[in-house]
Amino acid sequence: MILAMSASSSAPSARVVSFEVARHLVEQHAVGLCSRDVETVDLLAGLGRVLAEGILADRDFPPFDRATRDGYAVRAADLAEVPARLEVVGEVKAGEWPEPGVCSVERGQAVGIMTGAPLPAWADAVVMVEHTSLIAKSVDVRCSVTRGENFVPRGAEARAGQLLLDRGRRLDHAGIAIAASVGKSRVQVFRKPRVAVVSTGDEVVEIDATPGPAQIRNSNSYSLAAQVQNAGGEAVRLAIAPDERGRLRALIEEGLGCDLLLLTGGVSMGKYDLVEQVLGELKAEFYFTGAEIQPGRPVVFGSCSAGALARVPAENKQSARAEVSAPQKKYFFGLPGNPVSTMVTFELFARPMIEALAGMTRQRLVFLRARLKSEIRTKTGLKRFLPAVLSGEFENAEVELARWQGSGDIAALARANCYVVIPPDRERIGAGEWVSLLMR
Ligand code: AMP
Ligand code: MG
Repeated sequence: MILAMSASSSAPSARVVSFEVARHLVEQHAVGLCSRDVETVDLLAGLGRVLAEGILADRDFPPFDRATRDGYAVRAADLAEVPARLEVVGEVKAGEWPEPGVCSVERGQAVGIMTGAPLPAWADAVVMVEHTSLIAKSVDVRCSVTRGENFVPRGAEARAGQLLLDRGRRLDHAGIAIAASVGKSRVQVFRKPRVAVVSTGDEVVEIDATPGPAQIRNSNSYSLAAQVQNAGGEAVRLAIAPDERGRLRALIEEGLGCDLLLLTGGVSMGKYDLVEQVLGELKAEFYFTGAEIQPGRPVVFGSCSAGALARVPAENKQSARAEVSAPQKKYFFGLPGNPVSTMVTFELFARPMIEALAGMTRQRLVFLRARLKSEIRTKTGLKRFLPAVLSGEFENAEVELARWQGSGDIAALARANCYVVIPPDRERIGAGEWVSLLMR
């Protein structure tokens, strides 16, 4: 069941939920989303894109019984007793086809074979060259082999026509290898969802401006744009919204013309935090207006119905191009303005929505584990995602909190490479304990 609050007047009544409930609410809403538009791109341009077609095996994989070792193709029964001497009757290199009758293995015979070459007829194993000595036209074999050893039978990896990569899968290098191996030089992928990014705040100025003494540059629009891109979307950075209803509303309406709207700032309890009020005026539904997490507690998730968009002023219609085929709802996130909170809440909540809009099949959020290097003490009540540094080497990963000044400290976040996830009921976690990590 999907819970929602109606916003009949303006500001929604608060609905603060646990992290897990918040995440599941987002996932439930994401299930109903999909991307319809597709495009065909060159294979390498498909890296990081989401497949709109399944990739099928165009033939058996491997297409022949493929040797996995350099050595001799033999009949295992001939090596029941070792050492044994076999007559070498030929050689097959990778890329050569051993014509049956011309290059095949009769009883008492062997054929020299290289890794990647097809197994000659009647051979049923490959003995590694390391276990043999070539003497004139014979080979002495010191080790026996079992049938099937050191080659992969034709079709063992996949049969012709078998699905190798699902539609909805994001192409990584392994996916690229599969597409290449079946001869797909071009692949069909989903159009990237357009994600509007609106930063709010009277103190926020564009990054090429010289900030006044009480002003700060708009870093959030850029970190969010980078995260959007990373999640498979196309960021549309809109103007900075001042803490003033009219302009904020116009920018929200413009943003709702995209596939998803991300706002930062203006969702806390301050007198000039107007985002929820303005969304309320637009008849938004709010699924949550806070999550029991730190950083990022004031995060907001909701949607506006297509009806609300009909009132988009004429000058904004152009950027609302997705409207024609638009789903009934346009989703939005109000992310807190503190830069670290913005980044964390994006990863936890906005990312799965963008992935769904990009056509990706649902990805579960899983945390990795590492040993804690030094003790952590926190207050209970919130699930914490604290910037941390994962270090150590090989099997000995260890993690410790980055020293930071709170959720405005982007310098600390840039030094960190992960977040330690602290359950809401833990006051103290001792050095050496296993803790959960969210990589970034
Ligand atoms: P708010 O969520 O609007 O109360 O903002 C919380 C903190 O984040 C304040 O210190 C803001 O100045 C800062 N902040 C808000 N928006 C941005 C932004 N776009 N870039 C960098 N910092 C911001
Ligand atoms: Mg603000």
